Amino acid sequence: MLAKVHLPSSAGEAAELLDHGGWLLGGGTLVMPRVNTGAVPVDSLISLRGAGLDGLHVTGDTAEVGAAVTLARLADLTFLRPVVRSIASPPVRNLATVGGNLFAAQPHGDLAVALLALDARLDVLSTAGTRSAAVGDPVAANEVVTAVRFALPKVWRYRKAMRRKHNSASIVTVAAALEIADGLVTHARIALGGVAPTPVRALAAEQALIGKLLDEGAEAAAQVAHEGTAPFDDAYASAWYRARVLPVHVRRALLEED
Ligand SMILES: Cc1cc2nc3c(=O)[nH]c(=O)nc-3n(C[C@H](O)[C@H](O)[C@H](O)COP(=O)(O)OP(=O)(O)OC[C@H]3O[C@@H](n4cnc5c(N)ncnc54)[C@H](O)[C@@H]3O)c2cc1C
Repeated sequence: MLAKVHLPSSAGEAAELLDHGGWLLGGGTLVMPRVNTGAVPVDSLISLRGAGLDGLHVTGDTAEVGAAVTLARLADLTFLRPVVRSIASPPVRNLATVGGNLFAAQPHGDLAVALLALDARLDVLSTAGTRSAAVGDPVAANEVVTAVRFALPKVWRYRKAMRRKHNSASIVTVAAALEIADGLVTHARIALGGVAPTPVRALAAEQALIGKLLDEGAEAAAQVAHEGTAPFDDAYASAWYRARVLPVHVRRALLEED
């Protein structure tokens, strides 16, 4: 059966359509293969392309990014370029959206890892109203993520270990937002991808960094980064390998080593 594609002109209209069922469509890079192969029967697709969710604004030190902004466009935020470049390939990034990446299962979802490290907030809309959610909070089937908001990080670190340059999912992804005063780390928020079913905070690693020189704390942080992770086997790497290389990539990310 051919799915009907709706093109709402606002997020509110999309939410109203969603109340009658169907799937939201961002760039379609995850949805369309499943629709085209018949893996999931869908009779209604609700495209966000014309719903006015493609704004990207920086005000002071805060960014507000519409959910339908493409990953390619997100590279306008310079510090996120390494994140964007580590995802898929240019043709996919020209279609894939910020909102869609939040729903990419691990070991995909590298932007979601970065957004977790940034403590981003999601604007979520349904016909019941609007709410604010954290990255990783459940989003119901009748809800539309309309935007993500985050403070620009003072110090940013990002590293993704993958098998090849393009279209390669994460073995380990590390994103960290830090603040450093008088040489000492005063704030650390570290998120990991590829090492658990969802992006996870490396809370023990964060604690190991606070109050230390970054050079001194990085090794200690790396050694406890496994706490709270649950590495898995897949076609990209074994759970054993992921656990083994995690500390290496955490240390290299923090110290910006090759
Ligand atoms: C070849 C290939 C390689 C890839 N490599 C990587 C990689 O290395 N790293 C990585 O992170 N990802 C990777 N991906 C996944 C890619 O990032 C995601 O496909 C993309 O970010 C999803 O965005 P989309 O807009 O295309 O989502 P869609 O396919 O449109 O939607 C995905 C899901 O999110 C829902 N959704 C979309 N927008 C919203 C919204 N605003 N509110 C609520 N729900 C919404 C949809 O209903 C659907 O369930 C790869 C994908 C492909 C095809």
